[in-house]
Amino acid sequence: MNDDQLLRYSRHVLLDELGIEGQARIIASRVLIIGAGGLGSPAAYYLASAGVGTLVLADDDTVDLTNLQRQILHTTDRIGQPKADSGRRTLNAINPDVEVIALTVRLAGDALAAEVAKADVVLDCSDNFATRHAVNRACVAHGTPLVSGAAIRFDGQVSTFDLRDATAPCYHCLFPDGDDVQEERCATMGVFSPLVGIVGSMQAAEAIKLIAGVGKSLSGRLLMLEALSMEWHSVRVARDPGCPVCSGR
Ligand SMILES: [Zn+2]
Repeated sequence: MNDDQLLRYSRHVLLDELGIEGQARIIASRVLIIGAGGLGSPAAYYLASAGVGTLVLADDDTVDLTNLQRQILHTTDRIGQPKADSGRRTLNAINPDVEVIALTVRLAGDALAAEVAKADVVLDCSDNFATRHAVNRACVAHGTPLVSGAAIRFDGQVSTFDLRDATAPCYHCLFPDGDDVQEERCATMGVFSPLVGIVGSMQAAEAIKLIAGVGKSLSGRLLMLEALSMEWHSVRVARDPGCPVCSGR
């Protein structure tokens, strides 16, 4: 680290658990963020300010007036622009040391697999089950840790699937696809603005801990927040031995 970096990251370096070594790991890391919306915004803010070396921001959507109530990467003058590009501009302003790669496409198939293979950690900040399951399958295939967040109305969820660990559950173990789950979308259900900030910030915290190799992750636990009463619940998540995605890995 040069002198500027030592100053910029001094409050991390001061933490015994991180120190110069932990911060150096953060600087050397590459994180893939799926979705530059309500969850991806705060997650990307903290990962960029913390110095993650390469941030890949994937989103095929454009900024809309209805996004600005909570998607804090974006600004009023960027309505109509691709969210990934808008996010890159914001993140470059926060920390020019971070290389931000803006992907203005919906990652799928080989392109998704290639990006997951290059990432140290993947953050699922998407808003639909098809993407969530595709991202989980790619992370299982490459043994890449996945930090998953969700928020609707006043309810938030966050968990980590540390797929480097063969005994850890995957997203599918917890939320099997094909289950007759009604997909709830912010567009029809509404979402409390600071809730996405809380959940997205927790995703960033989990990612940084995984990268630096400190603390204990949420692997094997699902944390749920009811923001109206501000109550947290934690439930254990076991691996499903019959899971079609992660069994036999
Ligand atoms: Zn599984």
